[in-house]
Amino acid sequence: MIPPEVTINLASEHPVFTSPSTNPTLSVSQLGTWNSCRMKWFFHYNGIYPVRRESHALALGTAVHELLDLFLSGKPTDPRLNEMALEAPDIAGEAERLLDEVRKGPQRKIVTTELQLSSSRETLSGRVYAIRGILDAVVLYDDESLWRMEHKTTSRMNSLYLQGLSSGLQTGVYHWLAESVYKPLKGTIYNILINTKTPQYTSAAIPVNKNLVIRSIAQCDVMADEIMDGLIYRNLLSCASFNQQCQYRSLCNRPDPCSSKRRRLRN
Ligand code: SF4
Repeated sequence: MIPPEVTINLASEHPVFTSPSTNPTLSVSQLGTWNSCRMKWFFHYNGIYPVRRESHALALGTAVHELLDLFLSGKPTDPRLNEMALEAPDIAGEAERLLDEVRKGPQRKIVTTELQLSSSRETLSGRVYAIRGILDAVVLYDDESLWRMEHKTTSRMNSLYLQGLSSGLQTGVYHWLAESVYKPLKGTIYNILINTKTPQYTSAAIPVNKNLVIRSIAQCDVMADEIMDGLIYRNLLSCASFNQQCQYRSLCNRPDPCSSKRRRLRN
């Protein structure tokens, strides 16, 4: 349900609400969602969720992320795996197999895991806000170079997916946040769980694009002003990506541009 402090007309093409927060702290994923579609951001960050079943993909992704954190921080994984085996044996089996793939891969020196970072900035109009995010890990290579590590789960692994990851706003912002503590960072290593019928694991090391970092942070300064001003509108380009529909579609009152065409074709 829409919270009482927010007045929004979902039927309107450009609903406006008064942002309840000044000097907000915005998470990296929050900024990424705003960038993708402001209406999606409105739903998600005002506690309006579509009815969703816990999917196998989500449960497996969460289990693998948890095990990777334990493994990378040098803690034993067996106790948690045994618990998982009692809760959901199929998830535990798949997660253990994927963890074995990581164990067989190159071992890097782990500098930190699950590090929470926050850093303040000023918007173009002079308002203060902060960006926060959690780094999955920072690792050290044999040549003494530092890399940020990120765990991802996807069912659509291809070159476009990697390109989207490495050139996306969130990569630039995470890099900027990480460099507030660890500098210089060479780039990002993606640990990717490919969640198809037979799940697989792969990893890719992608060097940083400095222009992306500068551009992403400047974009955040603009978006923070926009969030505080609170103008919400739909971005129809985000309603479907890689043939997956936005999870908020049923709540969004979005006229389906294809439906009238389909009706005409049926008649
Ligand atoms: S259905 Fe489209 S317009 Fe509506 S929230 Fe999702 S992406 Fe935004």
